[in-house]
Amino acid sequence: MTIKVPPEALQACAILKEHGFQAYLVGGAVRDSLLGLEPTDWDIATDAVPDQVEELFPGSLPTGKRFGTVTVFVAGRGLEVTTMRSDGPYSDQRRPDYIIFTDRLELDLARRDFTINALGYDPLARRLIDPFQGRKHLRRKLLATVGEPTHRFREDPLRMLRLLRFQATLGFRIEKKTEQVLPKLAPLIVTVSPERILAELNKMLLGRELLSALQTFTISGLLQKVLPELAACRGLPAGPQHPYDLLTHSCTAAHFAHPDLALRWAALLHDLGKQHSLGRDHAELSAAMAGQLLRRLRASSSLISQVTALITYHMFSVHPHSSDRALRRFLGQVGPELALALVKLRQADMAGMNAPVRQIIAFGKEMEARLRAILQEESALSLKDLKLDGHDLMAALDLKPGPIIGEILNYLLEQVWENPDLNETQTLLELARRYLRTS
Ligand code: ATP
Ligand code: MG
Repeated sequence: MTIKVPPEALQACAILKEHGFQAYLVGGAVRDSLLGLEPTDWDIATDAVPDQVEELFPGSLPTGKRFGTVTVFVAGRGLEVTTMRSDGPYSDQRRPDYIIFTDRLELDLARRDFTINALGYDPLARRLIDPFQGRKHLRRKLLATVGEPTHRFREDPLRMLRLLRFQATLGFRIEKKTEQVLPKLAPLIVTVSPERILAELNKMLLGRELLSALQTFTISGLLQKVLPELAACRGLPAGPQHPYDLLTHSCTAAHFAHPDLALRWAALLHDLGKQHSLGRDHAELSAAMAGQLLRRLRASSSLISQVTALITYHMFSVHPHSSDRALRRFLGQVGPELALALVKLRQADMAGMNAPVRQIIAFGKEMEARLRAILQEESALSLKDLKLDGHDLMAALDLKPGPIIGEILNYLLEQVWENPDLNETQTLLELARRYLRTS
């Protein structure tokens, strides 16, 4: 039984052991290596207390010292070294009332959430420590809590969302008893901080098996508590030509969306407004509702603005056979980056209507080719690309500042969208004079 351990993690364990301490790799890294995946970060459990860890690794950072975590650096690589602990009782459903450091790995593994996360590995002896059948559950692709699910979810209700997150990212099934207790405990999720909830949802959304996780999310009643606006879409019509109800449409769209966080959120929330309006204005309504939802979860302003922009424009009407002029206008209105992302969102939306895969792929390819061709010609797409600005207009045509300047500029941009060759200062001035004479 060997796990490929990076040399820095191995060295950190060796240093601890040389000084008479225990050292094990634990958590996600052991799980992911056994699954043949590349772990992102390596966590080490030890019986050395934080002060001793800091002494052994000069330049380390006390990143979570209260809970026994010190980040140490070996050859430039950061590793989290945590003192093994056993959690005391939880009275506030957030964190244990007290923690007790321990020199028994089994106790440290017992406080962990799921059996597949409760594995330890001694990289020097090359020995796996598996007191809760984690290995077997990895083979069977099964998610089960360490110990009694009701008790473990009550201690920390966030674990229910972590369960969904692992269902989405690993594509595992949920063990029967673990799944059965969810509806009863779902209401407890409201005691968890929005930041912790968002972190798990973000990871869940990027999962390969998102649709199954969203189904559990719905059936368990957790969705109703965490994202009530989305839960309200259940059973509502999504509109003509839609084979699914509004919630299934949204979940399917998110599942098939390109795995980018903003896109997945946008696909999931793009039709929230349809519960109030099936008209074209649902896009703006959905964007407003999505913005409010994400602010409640304390999402970053950059994520919120990306998601709301995508949703605001998701009903865009250009298609692979639109005129160059229409495509230039679209690119001018939303900018190249958003335009390309909107194409991906439309593909997700089509998947959410059960459109044929061939059609979805063709739409994406053709739209991208058309948009890229237009970007290559470097024609004027927005006002700032015109070879003249408001000051030039006022000077040349002896005009005063006022709405007429904007009106003329927009007229000129329309002309240039139609025919990019017109974007020459003298030509534009001539067009502006003609516009003034006829308007
Ligand atoms: P990844 O880092 O790949 O997202 P991970 O399993 O490492 O996945 P983390 O959130 O980094 O997840 O947590 C590290 C380990 O700590 C987990 O594997 C698990 O053993 C334990 N753990 C994390 N959060 C909890 C929790 N809320 N309750 C119990 N144990 C937890
Ligand atoms: Mg981790």
